[in-house]
Amino acid sequence: MTATPTPPAPTTTTATDLAEAAARLDADDPLAHARDRFLLPPDVVYLDGNSLGPLPAAVPPVLTDVVTRQWGTDLIGSWNDNGWWEAPLRVGDAIGAIVGAAPGQTVAGDSTSVQLYTALDAAVSLRPDRTLLVTDPGHFPTDRYVAAAVAERRGLELRRVPPAELAGFLRSEGERVAVVSYSPVDFRTGELFDVRALTRAAHDAGALVVWDLCHAAGALPVELDALGVDFAVGCGYKFLSGGPGAPAYLYVAHRHHPGLRTPLPGWTGHADPFGLSRDYAPAPGIARARIGTPPVLSLLALEAALTAYDGVNLADVRAKSLSLTGFFLRCADELLAPFGFTSVTPADPDRRGSQVSLRHPHAHALTRALAERGVIADMRAPDLLRFGVHGLYTTHGDLLTAARCLRDIVAEGAYDPTPRVTGPVT
Ligand SMILES: *Cc1c(COP(=O)(O)O)cnc(C)c1O
Repeated sequence: MTATPTPPAPTTTTATDLAEAAARLDADDPLAHARDRFLLPPDVVYLDGNSLGPLPAAVPPVLTDVVTRQWGTDLIGSWNDNGWWEAPLRVGDAIGAIVGAAPGQTVAGDSTSVQLYTALDAAVSLRPDRTLLVTDPGHFPTDRYVAAAVAERRGLELRRVPPAELAGFLRSEGERVAVVSYSPVDFRTGELFDVRALTRAAHDAGALVVWDLCHAAGALPVELDALGVDFAVGCGYKFLSGGPGAPAYLYVAHRHHPGLRTPLPGWTGHADPFGLSRDYAPAPGIARARIGTPPVLSLLALEAALTAYDGVNLADVRAKSLSLTGFFLRCADELLAPFGFTSVTPADPDRRGSQVSLRHPHAHALTRALAERGVIADMRAPDLLRFGVHGLYTTHGDLLTAARCLRDIVAEGAYDPTPRVTGPVT
């Protein structure tokens, strides 16, 4: 109880307006039915699905079947009879359908970090006469570390160029750039970059692009094929709700398959994996990007999770997400700004991903206090509170509850502002 309370409580008019707006928006929501596809605990407002998506209702029965019948009874025959062997490509295609990739270009497996290494290394090997690898200085840590490692091993120079400065950079250095590696959404601020324009700028300079879709896939339409993206990777556990540590994925555009050489030529990516040949010969197509024995339980959980998108139009998910973030920005403006919160998320819908980040010096303590009241958000050091929304299960009412709760905590001084940093940072 050491925090200093700050005054003005909202006028009753504001509070009523917001409550009426939330009720109306939720009543008119064409995706309202999709919330039942997730097993959200009652009395919890979950705004952290951009870190760990909640459990989809389709997952438990599938996992029970996979474990008890497929593994328990059918045993090793399941590799053929229950489609285990093909799962990385089948699940890859299911993810592809969500990110605008036609079948045969996406493989699921391993972690984002591993897939990033594969993508960056394979991409730079397709531009052997170029010496620069470009990445975002604000990129997620693993993306920065992996880019630096690939650059070092490949004898390239790593350049850290924010997306807003890419066009200018390419005007002077474009001819030397092999690969540009970015994320559509800044994981801290929720800023959405122009994937089309950045891809085109890289291509105009003769470079290839690697997009990390972790904070975009499943939250908004990503038109990988239509935009002519070269490589993309992403995780299965954020908006896609595939479960903790769910397999990641790698997309490689068809046109790059013939020359594609991956850094980890494992036996499952061999043209004849059961031929036990002495030397490696890559399988045709994206199958060559398989590495080792796939994590079947996780893959099949992810496959079940993706059925939450059945019959859903990504444009509707995006429209709802924008309505949610727009509404939360309004709540923040009316209920939280008087208490020292400022939004770092762009107000412009074209530049907003599927989260709102609010700056407050006591972000960490406030996130903990929120969790104690059943509102799960997260924070990014040093001072950002992050609220992720999902068009399939978040409601405007959830967001109003979160904003009110946060206002009450600050108004009552009901938190301990001593900084402590723990927990995952995705
Ligand atoms: C979440 C996230 C990752 C996570 O990488 P893992 O290997 O799955 O732990 C990587 N990059 C970005 C941009 C992310 O948002």
